[in-house]
Amino acid sequence: MDMTKVFERIEELKPQMVKTLGELISYESFRQQPEEGAPFGRPARMCLDRALEICGGLGFITENIDGYAGTVKLYGGEPSLGILAHLDVVAAGEGWTRDPFDAVIIDGKLYGRGAMDDKGPAVSVIYAMKALKDLGVKLENGVELILGTDEECGSSDIAYFKEHTKMPKWLFTPDACYPLINIEKGHINARFTAECRSKNLKALHGGKTINAVPASASALLTGIKKEDISYALFGAGIATVVYHIRDNGDGTIELSAEGTSAHASTPETGSNALTALIKVLSLLPLDEPAKGLLTGLAEAFPHGETDGTSAGVKAYDETSGALTLVLSILDSEGDALSGAIDIRFPVCESVASICEKLGGTLSRRGFEPEINGSEPHCVPSDSKFVKALLGAYESVTGKKGECLAIGGGTYVHGTPGGVAFGCEIEGEDNRIHGADEFIRTDALVENAKIFAEAIVRVCNDPELK
Ligand SMILES: [Zn+2]
Repeated sequence: MDMTKVFERIEELKPQMVKTLGELISYESFRQQPEEGAPFGRPARMCLDRALEICGGLGFITENIDGYAGTVKLYGGEPSLGILAHLDVVAAGEGWTRDPFDAVIIDGKLYGRGAMDDKGPAVSVIYAMKALKDLGVKLENGVELILGTDEECGSSDIAYFKEHTKMPKWLFTPDACYPLINIEKGHINARFTAECRSKNLKALHGGKTINAVPASASALLTGIKKEDISYALFGAGIATVVYHIRDNGDGTIELSAEGTSAHASTPETGSNALTALIKVLSLLPLDEPAKGLLTGLAEAFPHGETDGTSAGVKAYDETSGALTLVLSILDSEGDALSGAIDIRFPVCESVASICEKLGGTLSRRGFEPEINGSEPHCVPSDSKFVKALLGAYESVTGKKGECLAIGGGTYVHGTPGGVAFGCEIEGEDNRIHGADEFIRTDALVENAKIFAEAIVRVCNDPELK
């Protein structure tokens, strides 16, 4: 179908898109205290109500799913294509140079919390549908926009949605990046603990969140000589972190390490302070069981290794890449030594198999493991649906469309057949979750064109009914 007229209409709708986005940004829709009819707080509910009101005013059929989510249908009937966006945001946080909830355009960039994640993309979908409606474009199969309100805090909106209504057969979320993500690695969260009463190791702390490479770690030691620490530092031979030794003058010495943080899905871009500290501690003349436990951890999780080889879980496949492993937390609390591990694994592996291997590695080294996980998410790259979306992307942008595999999870993780499609582009940092988040107003228009063409391609393909 020739999309020229639709694209012209989308250009004309730009001022309305900007206005709608500004209005949606004004709601501080991060998760707040639940209230009756507002499971994620009053502002998220108000933002959803207002979005549905705007869509109703544009002539769409809308439905509010009890304040958890809303649906916006272009025409009646059962839709075969769903587009899943979210209206909740993360809190503003520090460092903004302007009001995060009062959108402003500077040099073609619209600033505000949620501008890119995910209110802007939602608005582009609304006006893509509006342009198709204005021009009376006929669709064989229906389309609906699903507006969620709990993506940032665990997607319980989607769980509720699935329980109370039906997900369309074909689904994409414009809540990630272009061109298209068809593979999301499986995810393991492992926790482990062991009893560790020690005269030498008074305290040990490293890492706060399970999904990040820890940037710092420290240990408090007694009965260990300074020269023993120097020998151990030399023996460890680790140059990618900075160590500090502080003699407290009361018989205790504090040994700390400073590395570089990174997201657990890309650990190779960081330097793990915790594994660096463990290596040095394992070389000190500590008493048992501290010595044995730390030696075990140093063997299974050596500093600089991020593919799980020594933990016995290494895996790789062509389509999704390599498994990543991060020892992200270790804490001494009373007589216990407890820690946590984050693993992202390729489609050739399974939760059960990783649990077995990692569980064995940890128990053999004296730790009691508790391991949970979710399976990888995969939609074949040669499916008609994926090809239709990439075709729309290529025809609007002139760029090559290709599938991506990632270690993180998107809004469609766990929804069979769902892919992530848009809206960040390579080489542009829209400061999602950070200060001064923005979207280019031109990108609002371009995204709407891509979505309009995607809707036409998917909904007019008899094989995608
Ligand atoms: Zn998002």
